[in-house]
Amino acid sequence: MKQDRSDAIAGSLLAGAIGDCLGAATEFKSFEKITRVFGPNGLTEIHPPGRFTDDTQMTLFTAVGVITALIDHERPTASAWTKAFHEAYLEWLRTQEIRKPRGDLGGSWLLGESTLYRREAPGMTCLSALRSGEAGTLDDRINDSKGCGGVMRSAPVGLLLADRYSREEIYEIGCLSAAVTHGHDGGIFPAGALSVMVVDLMNGASVEAAVKNLTGLIPTDLRDRLREAVNFAKSQPLAPLPLCDELGQGWVGDEALAIAVACAVGGFDLEDSLLVAINHDGDTDSTGAICGNLLGAKLGVAAIPERFLRNAPQVPLVTKVAQECATFLCEPMTPEFAARYGR
Ligand SMILES: [Mg+2]
Repeated sequence: MKQDRSDAIAGSLLAGAIGDCLGAATEFKSFEKITRVFGPNGLTEIHPPGRFTDDTQMTLFTAVGVITALIDHERPTASAWTKAFHEAYLEWLRTQEIRKPRGDLGGSWLLGESTLYRREAPGMTCLSALRSGEAGTLDDRINDSKGCGGVMRSAPVGLLLADRYSREEIYEIGCLSAAVTHGHDGGIFPAGALSVMVVDLMNGASVEAAVKNLTGLIPTDLRDRLREAVNFAKSQPLAPLPLCDELGQGWVGDEALAIAVACAVGGFDLEDSLLVAINHDGDTDSTGAICGNLLGAKLGVAAIPERFLRNAPQVPLVTKVAQECATFLCEPMTPEFAARYGR
């Protein structure tokens, strides 16, 4: 694995977590209220407790799902992917239902991380779908939800599979990861799109080019929405209110990805993009997380302002997951590594 791959993985996971941390303080607030509370520029710093939310929690478990699928199978089938993601998200569900890890946990090492045992406004669709005990698939949809809970956790699919799978396969696997809990096309296809986009960004493409490259892979209505987002960002300075008027608020999957894309295209740098992505009327932690996933994959860790990394207390955990991903990709499998995933 090239050195820049591990930097891209860490960049995507960390910038996503930072966007999520920032957005956690502005989610459920109107832009008018955000400016009243944080000043005319909105929120620009991570304040204590500076924790990430379900978006990052579930993203870390997506990484576990991809790794366990590939420990168990050289070439997992669609049903093996679904099973691995379902198992990983059921681990996340356990972190939402008890206060701290205790007893023999089984499962992956991530279950032993006490900092994950917090409810940070988890999506109701994810909770209810996982509590049903069933796993949705592309052919057997679990509900009619088009919420953004699928796309906001899907980046690790592209980050981990970039060098082993085709774009078509990565798209399908990203969709499968979302379909476990979300049954509407609008909840599923944006997850596949983000998975593929991070691959292109890791390989040096611009965000605009990564959107163009989705042509033929994703449904035309989603493609048109993402193109609109790019055109919006190129036609005027990014500003919170027209952003939501034009692209929606991001509570549903395609809107969340569109807002993140617009912010990634229109910002001067990663910080500027993240700050627009988390200061608007909509689902700011998810749009911040996805925007961070996109730009972090392209720009790496060095693009993330040091003060954000310093003020977010869960950065070491995200870094540890990124290191696990790099170890998995570039070192031979060992019994010790497999045991960390309950294998
Ligand atoms: Mg959240």
